Amino acid sequence: MPGKNLSRDEAQQRASILTVDGYRVRLDVTSAPDPAAATFRSTTTIAFRCAEPGASTFVDLLAPAVRAVTLNGRALDPATAYDGARVHVDGLAADNVLTVEADCAYSRTGEGLHRFTDPADGETYLYTHYEPADARRVFATFEQPDLKAPFTFTVTAPAAWDVRSNAAHEAVTAEGAARTWEFAPTKPISTYLTAVVAGPYHVARDHYSRTLDDGTVLDIPLSALCRKSLAPYFDADEILGVTKLGLDFFHERFAYPYPFGKYDQAFVPEYNIGAMENPGCVTFREEFVFRSKVTDAAYEGRANVVLHEMAHMWFGDLVTMRWWDDLWLKESFADFMGSYGLVGAGTRYQSAWVTFANQRKAWAYRQDQFPTTHPITADIRDLEDAKLNFDGITYAKGASVLKQLVAYAGAEAFFEGARRYFQRHAFGNTELADLLDILEETSGRDLKSWAAAWLQTAGVNTLTPQLTADAEGRITELAVLQDGDVLRPHRVAVGLYDRDADGALVRTARFELDVTGARTVVAEAVGRTRPALVLLNDDDLTYCKIRFDEESLETLRSGLGDIKDDLARALAWSAVWNLTRDALMPARDYVALVLRFAGQEGNIGVLQSLHTQAKGAVDLYADPAWRGEGGRLLADGALRELRAAAPGSDHQLAWARFLAQTANGSEHLGLVRGLLAGTARIDGLEVDQELRWALWLALAATGQATEEELAGELAADNTASGRRQHTQCLAARPTPEAKAAGWSAVIDSDELPNALVEANIAGFAVPAHRDLTALYAAPYFKLLERVWAERTIEIAMRIVGGFFPQAQVDEATLAEADAWLTGHPDAAPALRRLVLERRDDLARALRAQACDRA
Ligand SMILES: [Zn+2]
Repeated sequence: MPGKNLSRDEAQQRASILTVDGYRVRLDVTSAPDPAAATFRSTTTIAFRCAEPGASTFVDLLAPAVRAVTLNGRALDPATAYDGARVHVDGLAADNVLTVEADCAYSRTGEGLHRFTDPADGETYLYTHYEPADARRVFATFEQPDLKAPFTFTVTAPAAWDVRSNAAHEAVTAEGAARTWEFAPTKPISTYLTAVVAGPYHVARDHYSRTLDDGTVLDIPLSALCRKSLAPYFDADEILGVTKLGLDFFHERFAYPYPFGKYDQAFVPEYNIGAMENPGCVTFREEFVFRSKVTDAAYEGRANVVLHEMAHMWFGDLVTMRWWDDLWLKESFADFMGSYGLVGAGTRYQSAWVTFANQRKAWAYRQDQFPTTHPITADIRDLEDAKLNFDGITYAKGASVLKQLVAYAGAEAFFEGARRYFQRHAFGNTELADLLDILEETSGRDLKSWAAAWLQTAGVNTLTPQLTADAEGRITELAVLQDGDVLRPHRVAVGLYDRDADGALVRTARFELDVTGARTVVAEAVGRTRPALVLLNDDDLTYCKIRFDEESLETLRSGLGDIKDDLARALAWSAVWNLTRDALMPARDYVALVLRFAGQEGNIGVLQSLHTQAKGAVDLYADPAWRGEGGRLLADGALRELRAAAPGSDHQLAWARFLAQTANGSEHLGLVRGLLAGTARIDGLEVDQELRWALWLALAATGQATEEELAGELAADNTASGRRQHTQCLAARPTPEAKAAGWSAVIDSDELPNALVEANIAGFAVPAHRDLTALYAAPYFKLLERVWAERTIEIAMRIVGGFFPQAQVDEATLAEADAWLTGHPDAAPALRRLVLERRDDLARALRAQACDRA
């Protein structure tokens, strides 16, 4: 994306001479319902000071046309001032007023002002998404987080629409078929946090109030929005209930009143990410509005996101990182607060830390073992680097390390630190040192070396128990061995487990200690009877991979599912998955564990990740000679557990979905077809619309669904979700024509919206179709640079990641990836990073297959 990047050096230079006093932004989106209208009018007036009068600078803007530029009353020629990404201005005064009038484009990629037309009723919806740097697609801006300013938005929109922005509206005036909404000025915020949501949205309203310590009453109007056609499914009460619990909880912990007035939460279509913390106007992906039955894990996940975004109102919005190097200062904290808040605020999701240990950390471990991993505080040279850094390190590892910090320094020191941080830096920008200074004050500990070990180095440590016992079976020594490029101080708990009278594996002893260096002895364990299982990092205090001694591993093979405690069992599942990924446990052994114990897994979120991992183990990590048998075993297991699950339970639904993912033989596919036709029934299982699509996908991917049948299902569900899933089903058919069409729809045109790009890629890349997709490996490597240059970064990332020949687990494909990397040393670093990561996945799969074969 030459010309569209912005470097850290440029941003620093600009911030060193500029102070922004305020923006006035006028948008006219009355043309939005007309599909032929490609652009909307955007007029920005920025008042700013310059410390070096006479200097020049630029504002960022990505617009098809700039109509006028005026600096301090002087008209500049857009043809020379605007280069396609920046408006250059020179001869700055001490006080400046710059006005830029432009035609900006409606987006179909989820970047900037996204436009969506609902197939169900023809209504048009708009919303913005900017992070890290797409406000410039909607108005002229100094696009960097440390040039904060108050924003005053004015939006003219069709008369029937509701329009929201960060601040509440002050006036709405009608003019013919349009209405103009004037919003109050915001508090000083960063450009990437501004937002507009506009359309005939359905709105649920509520309010929150609390009496503050000084006796004043804080009133926060609440609302939750979704498309009209989703309103019948919108459980706004549940969402607003979590919202109110969260507001109570964060006010208590942070002791800083919510600073942004009202709190809207909009669930919007074709959203690229989970959600975005725009102050006062949070946006969420609308898949969080559940059209069909989902498991409680989905409700928990959504509540976690609600609290994550709410935590950002303080961590990120009130106090913001200076540049993207310190993205963790908001994301790690918000990620931690999501789980912490679910438990602490008294929501019904009390197993949030089990989910965190099992799923969130899996993301971190994976990312942290790529050759491209990086310290939590990263080195972000430019916007492309920034875009890729919304990753498993910044979120999940960062949150894990904060959990470790709470164990290390104490919760009270941690939260007292947060309170002082908000007081000291409100509406400002910070770096790592600002936080460390405060945490050292409140904890009384030197955190420099802690930070150096945990925040400023990359990689994950492995902890392994080393146990010796005497002839009577008493422990003579238990030591914890630490491996890794950097050895770190770990506050850990070590659990000893044995079988109780009922045969359950329960903890009989727990030791908490500091593990430092390569070998740490657990002195208290000496003299105890050797246990059936030694579980390192019990209670999941630290961030590490854990291994087992031989006897403990035998205990897991014969009784992993018998571990009574949910968190301990989740840790054991994570550990055996890591063994599989690390080629230390054959994939078929992992699959056998899942088949043996998943049926008794009580935690629904853990069960669903076992499904994903077991499928991945067969598809990618198993010896190809065993793959067919492995696939049959999974489908048989799914069918068995589906029939055994309690009618109407979440577990039943999860197993039904797993059957749809694994069905291959005539028995499984016959049942799938029977469920769709209504000729087969599973007691308590409702075959609702989303499950229907999952079943159709099973038939499509095995060549059992005709185009007419799929069209018939779409006709019955002509919705945004139906259209996506229909597209995925078409591309998932096992024919050369279907693959060619799925590939071409994404590669040969940039007309397709983000959601359908994703659906085509998902359908194309069915692992079982590796013979059909093999011939796309060579074209893939040939077009990488073109895709990176021509497509927006969001779409380019999906294509590069999604079309990589991941299912071609062989030396030839690895060699192809290596050849591209060797031959393109000067390709964009962000592009190289994506290819390096996929290449690393492939190399890992080859090692795992070798292990499985042996
Ligand atoms: Zn976040």
